[in-house]
Amino acid sequence: MTQTATDTFTVTNPATGESVGSFPVHTADDIAERLAAGREAQVWWSGLTFAERKTRINRWIAAIATRSDEICDLGFRETGRPRGDVQFELIAGLEDLRWAAAHAKRVLKPRKVAPGMALFNFGAEVSYPPLGVAGVIAPWNVPIYTVLCGLAYALAAGNAAIVKPSEYAPASSVLVMDAFYDANPDAPRGLITWVTGFADTGSALCRAGLDKIAFTGSVPTGRKVMAACAENLTPVLLELGGKDVTIVAEDADVEKAATAVVWGGYFNGGQACVGIERVYVTRAVREPFLAKVKELAEQVTAGLEDGASYGPMIVPAQIDLVRRHVSAAVEAGAIALVGGVDSIRAPFVDPIVLVDVPEDNAAVQEETFGPVIVINTVADVEEAIAKANATRFGLGSSVFSARRGKEIAARLKAGGTTINSVLTFVGMPSVPFGGIGDSGFGRFHGDDGLREFAAPKATTTKRFQLGPDMQSFPRREEDFEQVRKMVKFRYAKRRGA
Ligand code: NAD
Repeated sequence: MTQTATDTFTVTNPATGESVGSFPVHTADDIAERLAAGREAQVWWSGLTFAERKTRINRWIAAIATRSDEICDLGFRETGRPRGDVQFELIAGLEDLRWAAAHAKRVLKPRKVAPGMALFNFGAEVSYPPLGVAGVIAPWNVPIYTVLCGLAYALAAGNAAIVKPSEYAPASSVLVMDAFYDANPDAPRGLITWVTGFADTGSALCRAGLDKIAFTGSVPTGRKVMAACAENLTPVLLELGGKDVTIVAEDADVEKAATAVVWGGYFNGGQACVGIERVYVTRAVREPFLAKVKELAEQVTAGLEDGASYGPMIVPAQIDLVRRHVSAAVEAGAIALVGGVDSIRAPFVDPIVLVDVPEDNAAVQEETFGPVIVINTVADVEEAIAKANATRFGLGSSVFSARRGKEIAARLKAGGTTINSVLTFVGMPSVPFGGIGDSGFGRFHGDDGLREFAAPKATTTKRFQLGPDMQSFPRREEDFEQVRKMVKFRYAKRRGA
């Protein structure tokens, strides 16, 4: 594809201001050009067998892995995160590609189904043709992972895709996408294309008449995406924000819970949709839990380069949000167990733990998206579950309990729950990933993730004529009489189970 945009913008390292590269601001015309190329390429791609697509995706995985040092370096430079964290999201993205390619045939190949008694003279088949050209809009916090996640399921299902990475971190994912053509020089260049720019470019993508938009980002933007897509009735998948919770029950292994919460809260500087932002600890284990969290959190360091536990806040506006939430909590009487407002030394924010924050406080109800963990004490698990479910979000969650993990997990309103660990459902491509409530709808990952990018189709075949032909005129009284008898025979004696 040629780049036709004339305006450009510069991407800089948020910690040093170093320029990482310059990217075009693409317009609706650029998107229209990519869509036309995508439609052509998709015909070629969907004409391949599942095995042929899998081979090409596997070649792409190998090409990405070969260039992984270069990709992680670019990811470090554009977000300031430790290279280890970039490596972490790259592995998660590669696992998505591998899993989707390996399982697409099992999930999406046509299958015969029972036609049912009333139409048993028919054959019935369900098939899963691709949608066409999908749009993938991605955020800045895990830019490679969120791009690969959308692409994996869209491509494995037989679609072409146009990707819009975040304006804050497009460089690493553009390199990853371009590696597809290094590995597959025979593929038409419209199969995976990308556009860069700001809200207007994303909005134009939503309005361009694509066959699906898979959006990962914030709740306010998710609303705009859905409204823009409504104009053409373009279906949407929304992976939005979270306020993920951990419950620490009376019978929890407190040391393991504290270790996991500190990692889950501060991984990526808390700039993770599934980061642990709230903890409900039962009174019986409050003191040892708080002591261990404090001990561990004080060892966590924010900084640049690989010695740091996490890097800078990637977007300046996030620093103001963290300040607002921490100030609101402290003003409302919360205890700053670790750090406090003084921990904010832009562009870095040192680890903060807030204890006993009122439930209606912004620090409990709104997504903070920074290294801030709120820990509130509850009398028992019942109270913990009620409070855990009392936000508008429902992305991830976790529970620590020796005996009641499954029971508590089943009652948490969230797209995923991890028992006696945190976040693991995200790194497992075999299970669906997504949210409920303000955390969005639709799923990446797993069989459901592949079906997101297909249009289930029913094909029924008449095999022979059986009894009266009810699909013809004129209708005879005796035919209705037969149907009447059939209704009574089949349904009248049903008793519950
Ligand atoms: P954002 O909503 O500001 O931006 C996301 C993307 O949307 C960017 O590429 C942006 O340019 C684009 N965009 C902006 N305005 C648009 C518009 N009007 N129409 C179409 N596209 C538009 O989000 P962000 O700040 O980049 O990312 C942080 C948010 O993403 C957090 O809320 C986080 O929880 C969420 N997130 C969710 C998941 C998940 O899987 N649920 C994963 C990662 C991040």
